[in-house]
Amino acid sequence: MKIKNYINGEFVNPILDNWIDNYNPSNGEIYSQIPNSSDIDLKNAFKAAKNAFPKWSETTLEKRSQILSNIAHLITEKLPELAAAEAKDNGKPLELAKSIDIPRAAANFQFFANAITQFASETHDSVGLNAINFTLRQPIGVVGCISPWNLPLYLFTWKIAPAIAAGNCVVAKPSEITPMTAFLLGEILNEAGLPKGVLNIVHGSGKTIGQAIVAHSEIKAISFTGGTQTGAHIAKVAAPMFKKLSLELGGKNPAIIFADCNYDEMLEATVRSSFANQGQICLCGSRIFIEASIYQKFKTDFITAVSKLKVGNPFDSTSDLGALVSKPHLEKVRSYIDNAAQYGGKVIFGGNLVSIHNFESGYYLEPTIIEVKDNSCVLNQEEIFGPVVTIMPFNNENEVLAMANDSSYGLSATLWTNDLKKTMRISKQIHTGIVWVNTWLLRDLRTPFGGVKNSGVGREGGLEALRFFTEPKNICIKYN
Ligand code: NAP
Repeated sequence: MKIKNYINGEFVNPILDNWIDNYNPSNGEIYSQIPNSSDIDLKNAFKAAKNAFPKWSETTLEKRSQILSNIAHLITEKLPELAAAEAKDNGKPLELAKSIDIPRAAANFQFFANAITQFASETHDSVGLNAINFTLRQPIGVVGCISPWNLPLYLFTWKIAPAIAAGNCVVAKPSEITPMTAFLLGEILNEAGLPKGVLNIVHGSGKTIGQAIVAHSEIKAISFTGGTQTGAHIAKVAAPMFKKLSLELGGKNPAIIFADCNYDEMLEATVRSSFANQGQICLCGSRIFIEASIYQKFKTDFITAVSKLKVGNPFDSTSDLGALVSKPHLEKVRSYIDNAAQYGGKVIFGGNLVSIHNFESGYYLEPTIIEVKDNSCVLNQEEIFGPVVTIMPFNNENEVLAMANDSSYGLSATLWTNDLKKTMRISKQIHTGIVWVNTWLLRDLRTPFGGVKNSGVGREGGLEALRFFTEPKNICIKYN
């Protein structure tokens, strides 16, 4: 089957007729092809977006909100089909796609359908000067949205929904590794009544079409989620054109476990925060620090709990972990395991490939626990982005805080303790954009989302996203 670009409300082949193979990670087979789009396709997508902008940016908020709501409802209606497509394209367990990815894609549209009707700006009364200032928040024009493969429709829609809610028109590119649900979204957009050209989806390689979107002189803002290296490159290309940039990048998130926590809840959540989606979530806690007094107990219990996780084909409802997203990614993750000793660790659980009956060529790996002695080791400093975590003990609060902050990343942290004072001291001093206390990945879509240091620039979520996708303009009126 051939996936097509979605430009000006129509499904079209790439003009140069170049294609890229798309793999099913559960069995390693090529099962579709995607457009290897070029500058010419981008030109058409941009033209469609530019033409649609004057009308869409003047469409009432009620109307925009209604269309976004329609999209949300249709995603929910087509949940089984979309979840199956996501599991096949990405390798994630179907149950996860059904319970998290697709419901969240619908929630993204519904959230911004509501948020745009509540979005407001400020006025400043220049007292004594007979003047009043007010701020208009105007859509930017044509914006670019580029998303990664780990949560395909979930993260694609997290960008697109606020961009169009705010009145922009969009050229969007999903990851070439997981294009399928973005392709299926096209039908939904038409059915929901989104005017032609408001959202255009071009598929292909990041290095060609992704790069072309970022380098396009009239695309004035880029919202990007992906790796830190790619983000740095994008920033370099965009900076001379003074583009607005939102960069959501990698993480190497600490999970800090104190002896005074609710142990059972912590253990259950730590298994999840380590291995959900095969560990391929930017928010997974991949450096686990445990207070020394409970270290041995935690180590034993964690291994026992992880050994119960079932690696299986994504379509088996009993699978806890599915396949990794691609062969090159599997090889990258394995290289950290194979070199664990040299990189400062000892594999104490897992580490092996898994062969699944009838899915022998899929990319399956055991959940893996590595014990490390020093936070400065490679395994604790580099993002592995797979089902691999490290564990190590700590002796006191200051020591663990220093280790947690000794990282080039700063996306999220998880803290397990019942001591409120300790919670506040650490939460204030930790260098991350998000801190979860006694929970993990509990998301309220109104909250600012993003990281510090090499984990990114800017915030998404709630009104922050609507602020990103609008330009503030101050208007000062003298009335005397
Ligand atoms: P990636 O390689 O950086 O790719 C992300 C997206 O950028 C893909 O669509 C990719 O296209 C495209 N791209 C690649 N090179 C480009 C270029 N020169 N110009 C423009 N676009 C380009 O990241 P990934 O491997 O897909 O995703 C994993 C990374 O994302 C991890 O580091 C993870 O931590 C991070 N992530 C962060 C968050 C967050 O919210 N902070 C959330 C999820 C994931 P191709 O697919 O064609 O290469």
